[in-house]
Amino acid sequence: MIIPYSTQSIDDDDIDAVVNVLKSSHLTQGKEVAAFEEEIAAYIGVKHAICFNAATSALLGAYTVAGLKEGDEIITTPISFVATANMAVSLGARPVFSDVRLDGNIDERFVERAITPQTKAIVPVDFGGKSVAIDTLREIAHRHDLLLIEDAAHAFGSSIDGKKVGSSADMSIFSFHAIKPLTTGEGGVVVTDDDAYAEKLRRFRSHGIIKKQLWNSDMSEMGYNLRMTDIAAALGRSQLKRVDTFINIRNEIAAYYDERFKSEKLFTTIEIPENMYSSRHLYPIMLEPALHCPKEDIFVALQDKKIGVQVHYKPIYKNTFYEKLYGRGSMFIAEDFYRSELSIPCHHKMTLDDAKFVADTLLEIVHKYAYRGCSF
Ligand SMILES: *Cc1c(COP(=O)(O)O)cnc(C)c1O
Repeated sequence: MIIPYSTQSIDDDDIDAVVNVLKSSHLTQGKEVAAFEEEIAAYIGVKHAICFNAATSALLGAYTVAGLKEGDEIITTPISFVATANMAVSLGARPVFSDVRLDGNIDERFVERAITPQTKAIVPVDFGGKSVAIDTLREIAHRHDLLLIEDAAHAFGSSIDGKKVGSSADMSIFSFHAIKPLTTGEGGVVVTDDDAYAEKLRRFRSHGIIKKQLWNSDMSEMGYNLRMTDIAAALGRSQLKRVDTFINIRNEIAAYYDERFKSEKLFTTIEIPENMYSSRHLYPIMLEPALHCPKEDIFVALQDKKIGVQVHYKPIYKNTFYEKLYGRGSMFIAEDFYRSELSIPCHHKMTLDDAKFVADTLLEIVHKYAYRGCSF
């Protein structure tokens, strides 16, 4: 059995919750989605939560109701899943990439320089679950009259200064994909304190239709069908009851790794400061330059030992689609981050024995390849 870098945990309560919906009258557009939304809003500490069939759809919704259109720009990070930028491009807007810090989060010191008259929003990503410098970013957004839309897909349950990630931006997005800290299979949500955005998001996910009375309804704006099913929402509600336990387990695994790797010379790890709590969606290790060349061999050797590592992320601008659109790009830290990063298994189905096996094997493999370095 492979130990994946992240995976879901499903128990009998989750199964019962789903089966109950399957036996009920409404598989979709019933009561589960609304109940899940109330619970999410309470958990994060915001007024509204609007569920979608995926975080990608939630991003499209947030960008759309923010009024993003042809010719607009967003400032975002190259170290993210492509959806963060893709959904802006799909509306004709341009993602302007701003370089990252050594922890993979957008460097707030560079953001202001990327602002142009076309900029509409700043879109940071809480890489691996570690919060971005949200107060600074919010202050920059405020000063330049920009929206702050947080792609918090990794960070459900994370917090900074005791405040949940997702409660500080104009709109924040979480993903409930199976590998994320809480899952509905596929799913996502936008959270916001803004009543107008919330109403528009609800309309947008459901054909742009407003129900009036009896058979009378009106489609006032373009919309799609991006709704979450009640089956998925029931799973999410059941998972939400255990999400704090999930994240505690992830933190126990991460703390074990931190301890094992604290004097390691061949790679570093990303520190979570005292004032933050991370969902630990990822546990990235950053390989020293001497290991950049044998990284492929290290990756394969770990997979051969059934350790499911992954690399997060190829900078978005390096994808063919983006190179065709905007030409070749290169950002100093993002490139280095991509060369160094390796995400090792860290999730709530792991035991400390699994973590010990991962740590032992990883140390053995990186030390085996260390002699080779980058000399040819
Ligand atoms: C997973 C992820 C998404 C997309 O989420 P889906 O629910 O799979 O659509 C968007 N942004 C980031 C940063 C992600 O990690």
